[in-house]
Amino acid sequence: MEKHLEKDLRVLPLEKELEGRVRWFIRLRWLAVLGIFAFSWIPARVFGISLPLFQISCVGLGVLFLNIFYSFLRGPVLTKEWFAHLQVGGDWLGLIFIVHYTGGIESPVLYYFIFHVIISAVLLPRRACFLDATLALIMIACLAVLEAAGVIPHMPIKEFFPWYLYRHPWFILGELFFLATTFYGAAYLATSVTQILKKREAELVVAHERLQKMDRAKDEFVLKVTHELRAPLSAIESLLRTVEEGYAGQVPEALSDILGRIMRRTGFLLQLVNDLLDFASGKLEKPKKEEYEEVNMEESIKNILSLMHSKIEGKRLKLSVDSEHVTLRAVPTEIDLILTNLIDNAIKYTPEGGSVGIINKRVGRQVMLEVRDTGLGIPEEARPHIFEEFYRAENAKTLEKEGTGLGLAIVRNLVRHYEGEISFRSELNKGTVFTVRFPIKDYSRT
Ligand code: ADP
Repeated sequence: MEKHLEKDLRVLPLEKELEGRVRWFIRLRWLAVLGIFAFSWIPARVFGISLPLFQISCVGLGVLFLNIFYSFLRGPVLTKEWFAHLQVGGDWLGLIFIVHYTGGIESPVLYYFIFHVIISAVLLPRRACFLDATLALIMIACLAVLEAAGVIPHMPIKEFFPWYLYRHPWFILGELFFLATTFYGAAYLATSVTQILKKREAELVVAHERLQKMDRAKDEFVLKVTHELRAPLSAIESLLRTVEEGYAGQVPEALSDILGRIMRRTGFLLQLVNDLLDFASGKLEKPKKEEYEEVNMEESIKNILSLMHSKIEGKRLKLSVDSEHVTLRAVPTEIDLILTNLIDNAIKYTPEGGSVGIINKRVGRQVMLEVRDTGLGIPEEARPHIFEEFYRAENAKTLEKEGTGLGLAIVRNLVRHYEGEISFRSELNKGTVFTVRFPIKDYSRT
């Protein structure tokens, strides 16, 4: 059996996006800490290279503690520009110490500054990224000058690299020049790419908001129109019923067939108007606090089934109900709509003599509702579309000519009101199981 889980497409707001990147940066730092220990202890122990292990390990521990502190931070602080600077600055302080313990201006670790130039480009605006690159260069230059002047000791890796260059002014200048061009070049290239991406992202968010607004306007329009249409249509239907039942005089034989067809069409039109109304209002209107009640699911299922009794009998369907006494804080009419649509589909799309089963129970902190049938099943190509408005699978159209294709879209909107989720499993010509899970919580307080 295949499982389909309906998911939302959402564009992340920029703040959330930035928070995600900062958390990624924090995750990367765990790797960096591991790297500091691995790349100091392994060369020292395995290759016998003389490295000041104690000092380097202290730097590693410092970065580790800082990262533990960062990872406990929550909310808006993570997305502040000063916090990004603080992180980059903290890392560079750690890095400059490691550079010092591995040969200063001769150290191969100097290249690692480039990583943070790129990370700054991802997290920060271009100006801030150049500022951070300049800060790194100032730190490296200060270290080189202090070591060359003998103010602080020079601690080279004697086994591997020439260690007399640190006093050579042209070497220092040359190294600083190439580091500066590398940093600024990388900052320019990386910010050029990220700026384009950030601009696109901002455009996407604006476009998404505009689309949402237009969608809302469309739903409001549908709501108004269907509301206006419902009353006259209901009147037409009841007048037609009066005529059909002979209250306006005997209906001639020739007219009776036509009248029946008019009534069927009117009934479908009324169903469409009602579905459109439920669909638009389910999307637009979130239930109000005072509308919530303790809904007894067992009772609701019983009530809906009693309304569908004749349909079930008419198709000689075997019905099984396994319902626990569970309550859900919800709007009763919305729960009725969910049940009606799912059970009605199970009846509609199951041929005569088949079975329909309903299970309703509490599973952990959730109320689970399952509606299963031994009907048509949903063809593979239709599965990704069945929650779309007006979509109907070909096999469903063959069995049931009239259908609005709105039932599941209505159910999906309503399930969202309760932060629930709806999924289904289906096998062609064997049957379908729809499962709805509602988290148990007090929505009146949300
Ligand atoms: P409608 O029933 O009016 O066509 P729905 O939105 O309720 O609209 O369902 C959309 C489509 O999903 C149906 O047309 C059908 O193809 C498929 N479907 C829904 N429930 C079932 C089911 N229990 N068995 C088979 N197919 C189903």
